[in-house]
Amino acid sequence: MPKIKKLLVANRGEISLRIMRTARQMGIKTVAVYSEADRNAPHVKFADEAVCLGPPPSNQSYLHAEKIIAACKNLQVDAIHPGYGFLSENAVFAKMVTDAGIIFIGPSPQSIEVMGSKLAAKNAVSKYDIPMVPGTDEAISDIPKAKIKAAEIGYPILIKASAGGGGKGMRIVENEQEFEEQMHRAISEAQSAFGDGAVFIEKYITSPKHIEIQVLGDQHGNTVYLFERECSIQRRHQKVVEEAPSPVVSEKMRQAMGQAAVMVAKACNYYGAGTVEFIVDEHLDFFFLEMNTRLQVEHPVTEMITGKDLVKEQILIAEGLPLSFSQDDLKINGHSLEIRVYAEDPKNNFLPDIGNLQTYIRPHGPGIRVDDGFEQGMDIPIYYDPMIAKLIVHDETREKAIQKMINAIADYQITGIETTLAFCRFVMEHESFVSGKFDTKFVERYFSPEKLEIKWTEEELTLISGFAVEIFEKKKNGFKGAISKDTALSQRTNWKNRLI
Ligand code: ADP
Ligand code: ADP
Ligand code: MG
Repeated sequence: MPKIKKLLVANRGEISLRIMRTARQMGIKTVAVYSEADRNAPHVKFADEAVCLGPPPSNQSYLHAEKIIAACKNLQVDAIHPGYGFLSENAVFAKMVTDAGIIFIGPSPQSIEVMGSKLAAKNAVSKYDIPMVPGTDEAISDIPKAKIKAAEIGYPILIKASAGGGGKGMRIVENEQEFEEQMHRAISEAQSAFGDGAVFIEKYITSPKHIEIQVLGDQHGNTVYLFERECSIQRRHQKVVEEAPSPVVSEKMRQAMGQAAVMVAKACNYYGAGTVEFIVDEHLDFFFLEMNTRLQVEHPVTEMITGKDLVKEQILIAEGLPLSFSQDDLKINGHSLEIRVYAEDPKNNFLPDIGNLQTYIRPHGPGIRVDDGFEQGMDIPIYYDPMIAKLIVHDETREKAIQKMINAIADYQITGIETTLAFCRFVMEHESFVSGKFDTKFVERYFSPEKLEIKWTEEELTLISGFAVEIFEKKKNGFKGAISKDTALSQRTNWKNRLI
């Protein structure tokens, strides 16, 4: 059985660090890769060794398969963990790695290939008794024919790129008049974004929930599910808040979804960690969406409620070990929430905001976990996904976890860059989130930029005027400089502490 001694993480940011932490705990040496934009990044500093791949653009660095494999050869690396994004769902890369005699920490290239195409995935799964969203089961080439099919399914419909991912490559079509034009656009977009123009149509479920199941399979045919994650709070079809367990899933539904997910995994002889995504309608009927053949961004909430380290499990599976637990050994303990802290401006349509992390102070405490890849003073590069960090909390109940998250958000201090923190606080305090009655339309339905305007309490106003007096005194004594908004905000905390 091949014991992994040295692991290269073909990724950057928080996920690279998170994987290396587990590797180190397991006594495995770590190798980081980086682009010129990430030279001083924490993941580079943390690793035992680090290799520069090239200039910042991903295709010259983090997507450069040959360079990554060459680095492994030079440094006698025996395994690669691809993280998420970048090369993680690239079957050709997985095969290149295996052919080079290096262990790929993930499923087989065949599983990646089948599940990497939403159409091939639907096809593989169709042999089993798994509910699917009504739609076409092959790529559309004949538009008039597709139009007839769309009318049969009933508008609104969704045109989807078979190779799409990360919330990209989807178009909602409200009625027949729009169909043809949207179809042409979807095909050309899919071609330019994913190098594959194959698109298909699906019934557009108007107010669905996104609920997914974490699975783990070993190379001996054992597959288990580690319960669900609720990921309905999204913008641009991409998740911002996740939790486990879901507030609407009953024990019976959990079992049914778990068993369906295990079947999906078996349909492609899956091993490793994977996620089976479902869309759930208002009657709580669930339908298979796709399978992600990698570690998911939101995997920590599952770790918090199951006590399992998913990266450790991935490594043990890659080494060929059988799972050390069975389905019956797995239990849900408490409740966990995650928010994604993106460098984005929620007041401006969640557009990415780049700049310098002038203040960066993390929240701390029992049941609070921050997975991040930045330090105070660093710039957020424009080349990659704008996620700064994930803030994860765990507590006995959902109610307590929400309260803990609200407090942790208040303690998280970031200046110099707009982030999704205030938006996530809005979510945590919203009646519809608190009651569990929300779906993927949450942002559209309830959110508008004015919702983030700060409403000062009496106490805060007193503090602010106290601070104003302080500035006034300083100025009177000859202080010349201007006081920035950021200084003022950090002073707010000082003032508060002084008064308590
Ligand atoms: P998850 O599916 O793990 O919840 P996301 O949907 O946010 O997370 O995707 C994870 C990361 O992978 C993001 O950085 C996203 O931009 C990227 N990603 C996933 N699939 C693709 C794809 N096909 N093309 C481009 N980027 C992708
Ligand atoms: P990706 O590969 O980009 O993650 P998914 O198929 O997983 O694509 O869909 C991403 C999100 O888009 C879902 O979480 C959901 O919000 C929305 N979505 C996808 N399919 C449908 C559908 N048929 N009806 C309504 N919303 C959908
Ligand atoms: Mg998805």
